[in-house]
Amino acid sequence: MTFDIPRLALQQERLFVSCCSQEERFAFLAEWYDPSAALLRRYQLLFYPKDGSVEMYDVKNQRTFLRRTKYDDLHQEDLFVGNRINVFSRQLNLVDYGDQYTANKLGSKKERTLAMIKPDAVTKVGDIIQMIYDAGLIVTKAKMTKLSWKQAGDFYMEHQSKSFFNNLVQFVTSGPVVVMELMGDEAVSVWRKVLGPTDSGAARKDAPASLRARFGTDGTKNAGHGSDSLASAARELELFFPSTTGHGPSNTAQYSYCTCCIIKPHAISEALTGKILNSITEAGFEISALQIFNLDQASAEEFLEIYKGVVSEYTGMVAELCSGPCMALEIHGPDAPREFRAFCGPSDPEIARHLQPATLRARYGKNKVQNAVHCTDLQEDGLLEVQYFFKILEG
Ligand code: GDP
Ligand code: MG
Repeated sequence: MTFDIPRLALQQERLFVSCCSQEERFAFLAEWYDPSAALLRRYQLLFYPKDGSVEMYDVKNQRTFLRRTKYDDLHQEDLFVGNRINVFSRQLNLVDYGDQYTANKLGSKKERTLAMIKPDAVTKVGDIIQMIYDAGLIVTKAKMTKLSWKQAGDFYMEHQSKSFFNNLVQFVTSGPVVVMELMGDEAVSVWRKVLGPTDSGAARKDAPASLRARFGTDGTKNAGHGSDSLASAARELELFFPSTTGHGPSNTAQYSYCTCCIIKPHAISEALTGKILNSITEAGFEISALQIFNLDQASAEEFLEIYKGVVSEYTGMVAELCSGPCMALEIHGPDAPREFRAFCGPSDPEIARHLQPATLRARYGKNKVQNAVHCTDLQEDGLLEVQYFFKILEG
C-alpha cells in the first residue's frame, strides 16, 4: 500500500499534464503602454476558453506577469489581432497571434472596413450603429467630419471620369459625415450587404431591410458607403484614420452653446451605443460632433479632476473611463448644458429609475460608476469639457 501512493501521485500528475496540454488555449502578443515608465511593454497573453481565465507573461523580463486567473469581462469574440481589450484595468493592444493554432482558429476571417454615413443619414447614426452591431460587426473608430471638395475627390478618385462625379462630390461635401472603422468576420462583404444595392430605389425593391432602402433617397443620395475590397478598405481607412502621421480630417466641434456627453466604455461594450444615440436625437438634441477615444489613466484623471475628493466614486469613475473605447459627443443648442444635464438624470441609475425613468441613466445605467453616460455638470464647464476631448486629446 505504502509504495502505491507515489505511483498514484505520479499517475495523477500524468493525467493532469495530459489533460492540461489538451485544454484549448489561445495565445497572443499584446502591448500595453505603461504611462509611469513611459514604456511600451509586451506580453504573451494566454486565454483559456474553458473557464475564461487569462495568463500573462512579460516577454522582455521573461517572467510571469499575471498568474492564470479567471476574468469574466474577457470573451473569446473580443480576441483578434487589431482589437484592444481590457484586462484588470489595463488596455492591451493585441498586435499578433502567438501561435498558428490561434491564428487559424480566431484570425482567418477578421477584417476591417471603412464605413461612411453620408450627409443625408447622419441624423440616423443611432439606427445605423445598431444595424452594424446586429450584423455582428463592431465599431472600433468613429469621427464626425465635414469633407472638403479635395478630400471627397481623393476619396472617390476611382470615379473621377464618371458623369455623376461632380454630383457625388457635391453631395458628400454638403454636410457632415460620420466615418467609421468596422471590424469583424468578413467585415467588407458583411457591411456591403447591410448597405444594400447602390441605388436606394433598387434597394427598396430588392433588399427592403437594407440601410440604403431605409434611409436613402435615390442613386446619389444613398445614405452610406462601404469599401468594396480589402485593398480599398486599407486605402480609405488610411485617409480618415492615418496610422502614422496626422489625425485625418478635422472634427466638427463648434465650441459654442454646447455641452459634453461621453458614452462610457461599459455601455459601448454592451452594444448600447446605437440605442443611446437614438434616445439623444429622439429627445431633440443636436449632435454636432462625435468621436471615439481611447483614454489612458492620466487623461481620465485629468478630465475627472473636479470630482476628486468630492465624490466617493472618483477612483471607480477614472477606472471605468479608461477601461476601453468611449464615445465623446458635442451636444449643441441654446440651452444645451442645462437641458442635457436634466435629460441624463441623477448620477445613480437606481435613483434615476425611481424618480426619472425616461432619463438616459435610468434606461441604460447599471450603477453609480457604470451609469451609461458622463455629462457636463456645471453649465460653465460645457465648453471646457468639449475642448478637452475635441481639441486637447484630438490635438
Ligand atoms: P457604391 O460602392 O455602392 O457606393 O457605388 P459606386 O462605388 O459605384 O459609386 C459611388 C457612389 O457614387 C454611390 O454610392 C452613389 O452615391 C454614386 N453613384 C454611383 N453610381 C451612380 C449613378 O449611376 N448615378 C448617380 N447619380 N450616382 C451614382
Ligand atoms: Mg464603391
